[in-house]
Amino acid sequence: MRRKLIAGNWKMFKTATEAVALAREIWAQAKEPGPVDVLLAPTFTSLHAVEDVTRGSAILLAGQNMHHEKQGAFTGEISGAMLKDAGCTHVILGHSERRQLFGETDEGVARKAKAAHEAELVPIVCVGETLAERDGGTTEAVVERQVKAALADLSIEQVTETVIAYEPVWAIGTGRTATAAQAQEVHAFIRALVAKTHAGAEAALRILYGGSVKPENAAEIMAGPDVDGALVGGASLVADSFLKIVKGAIL
Ligand code: PEP
Repeated sequence: MRRKLIAGNWKMFKTATEAVALAREIWAQAKEPGPVDVLLAPTFTSLHAVEDVTRGSAILLAGQNMHHEKQGAFTGEISGAMLKDAGCTHVILGHSERRQLFGETDEGVARKAKAAHEAELVPIVCVGETLAERDGGTTEAVVERQVKAALADLSIEQVTETVIAYEPVWAIGTGRTATAAQAQEVHAFIRALVAKTHAGAEAALRILYGGSVKPENAAEIMAGPDVDGALVGGASLVADSFLKIVKGAIL
């Protein structure tokens, strides 16, 4: 039985002061271990301050990106060891905003996924098609290419621990959500694909849905048998809506 995971991606929102206030509100209701894993991904400069709030609680922490090298002359970048040192257990990789706005490639995401495991961080690898790709009937081909590339250099054990987030690009921040059936269809496709590429890892692999998840649609989307939680952007910036989504994940 896979535990559901609800991850809040705070993107480039909230100063450290604001992030601490939001983390405190979430901590107050999610600090005890429950049936669902709860994860927060604040911006880098807020990680330490948020970790001060969540330390000793069940709440997990993630970076929103990392560099694949351990260290070096890479101005503006952050390493896996630095995220780990800041209290992170996870790191979001290959978010569509990074792919579209910062030129991240499948190969780059693969290098980062390997480096994340080496740094003992669980990668949350984002994949998903654009609207043009969905309309053109290439959703499965796009998702297959992204998943295969990201997992290519990982062992079966590492894939077992990896989290994949299926985030159709047309649903991110648009208010337009995939239907529960559309989400389940792609999630089942990803699990079947992993059964072929890393046989044995597919049963434990968690696959999150992301794209305009809100309290109103969360429970329905997460009812799909292959939907193991949600990666939440906008609705994670308000404690009440994020916590309602967490509750929606409890069957
Ligand atoms: C995201 O940032 O991963 C995301 C899914 O955003 P939103 O929930 O705002 O669509």
